[in-house]
Amino acid sequence: MKTIIEPFRTKVVEAIKFTTRSEREEILKKAGYNLFQIRAEDVMVDFLTDSGTSAMSSEQWAALMRGDESYAGCSSYFRFEEAVQQIFGFPIVIPVHQGRAAERLLFGELVKANHIVPSNTHFDTTRANIEFLGGEAIDLPCQEAKDFSSISPFKGNMDIEALRALLKAKAESIPFIMVTVTNNAVGGQPVSVENVREISQLARQFGKPLFIDAARFSENAYLVKLREPAYADKSIGYIAREMFGLADGCMMSAKKDGLANMGGFIALKDKALANSVRNRLIITEGFSTYGGLNGRDLETIAVGLREAMDEDYLCYRLAAAKYLASGLSAAGIPVVEPSGMHAVYIDAKKMLPLIEPRYLPGQRLVCELYLECGLRSCEIGTAMFGHTKADGSQEPARQELVRLALPRRVYGQSHYDYVIEACQLVQERSQSLVGMTIVSEPPLLRHFTARFSPLQPAKCKPLAAVGVTQK
Ligand SMILES: *Cc1c(COP(=O)(O)O)cnc(C)c1O
Repeated sequence: MKTIIEPFRTKVVEAIKFTTRSEREEILKKAGYNLFQIRAEDVMVDFLTDSGTSAMSSEQWAALMRGDESYAGCSSYFRFEEAVQQIFGFPIVIPVHQGRAAERLLFGELVKANHIVPSNTHFDTTRANIEFLGGEAIDLPCQEAKDFSSISPFKGNMDIEALRALLKAKAESIPFIMVTVTNNAVGGQPVSVENVREISQLARQFGKPLFIDAARFSENAYLVKLREPAYADKSIGYIAREMFGLADGCMMSAKKDGLANMGGFIALKDKALANSVRNRLIITEGFSTYGGLNGRDLETIAVGLREAMDEDYLCYRLAAAKYLASGLSAAGIPVVEPSGMHAVYIDAKKMLPLIEPRYLPGQRLVCELYLECGLRSCEIGTAMFGHTKADGSQEPARQELVRLALPRRVYGQSHYDYVIEACQLVQERSQSLVGMTIVSEPPLLRHFTARFSPLQPAKCKPLAAVGVTQK
């Protein structure tokens, strides 16, 4: 069969509240044109993030009832520990409430002021936790990653020569090396086992530990199976063991490929390091057999990690992302190629070329899509990564992307069709759209709470000039 169906049936449903365009206009205005500031119930299709938004399976709900809420030594911990050990191969498993807690605890032990931590590309909380400790987070993505339209199988890879040069020049300042699978920041692109092997060899040569940020380990393993010939006939479990066998430990946000709504862990080989991390855990998160989670959370993760490795599920997930990406492409909307599995990224700079980056084309698109159909998406551009200069103007980010993140097992094909249609309608009136300005912003992580205002459309062209005259 050519048709790939969702490998599940619906057992419980959550109603979507329908809103009209004029209601959405009002909601958006009240929220300062910031989609993080609107209520989830006012969203019809929520593609804000794939984090913690998965639908749990009947097996996970059943496991949840087995949750042992004992303070110490709960049986749920041992089921969780066994699943993590089996999949990732590390003997020591430390539960945490989510990925960034794992980062804070592990980095707290290892990163000192002026340290440098290289990665293929750091996730934003990973970078923030390194910088918070006075370290420097360095991204070394491969060359192919820099071109949004190039088709290359492993655009998530690290630039090995750049890593070698950095190690040669600054080895004494580098406490460890990181690699993020899949590479979220460059569009959810996969990392090959071969690349991790090369990173691992360099790490050994220079005596540095290698840690993997494993948030999307099963999506990465599936893309390895499809694209790295040596693994074409291997199971997802085999590929995961092969990749993690090259590292000294991993951190994971179980809100992604753990198919859980909350949770994470650190898995390690080094006993002394694990002991110090556990001490920190007990002070700030909770005892070492729950780490800030409920026993029932540990159960749902233990089941979810295994379900996320099911090839029928992974095949469907990739098909859904491709369906959305190719539907958008066919409608003439520029998307980042090749599409990842957890999200599809629209290039807002190309879609709205009349809006200069300093007038926030991505933010405009995010707002326009909400107005059109109640879709919530996420700007990854100047609103998120740019900054306001002394004269009040915007220093633009490197890219103006809009991310449509795909919650796991939540939406079906008609939702995707609906989103594609809305994108097309926005595209058709892209010539009449003008930019936005920032009205107020906090000092850090401004995209969550900043307030925006649309510029007034002018009758005359070029539209970019509207921004210039309006200030
Ligand atoms: C989500 C994520 C994190 C942080 O995890 P949280 O659970 O959100 O704290 C770290 N790294 C990557 C690659 C992620 O996607």
